[in-house]
Amino acid sequence: MLNLVIFGAPGSGKGTQSARLIDSYGLHHISTGEVLRGEIARGTELGKLADSYISKGNLIPDELMIRILDDMLPTLLADGKGVVFDGFPRTIPQAEALEQLLLKHGTELHGVLGLEVPEPELVTRMLKRGAETGRADDNEETIKNRLNVYHAQTQPLQNYYQQKGKYLPIEGTGVVDEIFTRIATHIEKHTGQRPRK
Ligand code: AMP
Repeated sequence: MLNLVIFGAPGSGKGTQSARLIDSYGLHHISTGEVLRGEIARGTELGKLADSYISKGNLIPDELMIRILDDMLPTLLADGKGVVFDGFPRTIPQAEALEQLLLKHGTELHGVLGLEVPEPELVTRMLKRGAETGRADDNEETIKNRLNVYHAQTQPLQNYYQQKGKYLPIEGTGVVDEIFTRIATHIEKHTGQRPRK
């Protein structure tokens, strides 16, 4: 089993590298942002609530996010292959909850892949994605707040996981394949596991 968090600022490439990870290592994937965007698209009550936070670039309250993850974990962990957590945790309470939930299921987090990308490039990437995909929170004003929120609430997790010996820093610039090769090298060094393909 291989449970990984893909960590980094908005626009750091978490979604792109998650797709490579699940394909190469045969893992399951949860992107909490995608789950919430799906709820918004379906117009559910949860979607309406989520939209009021996402459209401003703020985080959804921890209690709600943790409940969503708790509900999805049994399915994600059922076959024992492992999970890529993308966009979760984003706060220290979420990280503590993840540890407890994995423990409850008899497993643990094996590593946190930290995609490190300079801020001007993050902004350029998000504006490009906004123009190409129409993603609503990829606009200049919301991006600014998302980066502030990242620095205030999410970045402290780097130190949190460093202290646990689980943080693996990845240079997140360059072409997608190069970055993935760096990720695979870190995973092998840290866990001994290699891609299946
Ligand atoms: P993402 O697709 O990961 O960039 O997430 C898009 C937005 O969804 C974020 O800006 C937050 O508003 C919300 N979101 C996603 N994951 C979380 C989380 N773990 N905790 C709180 N809010 C989240």
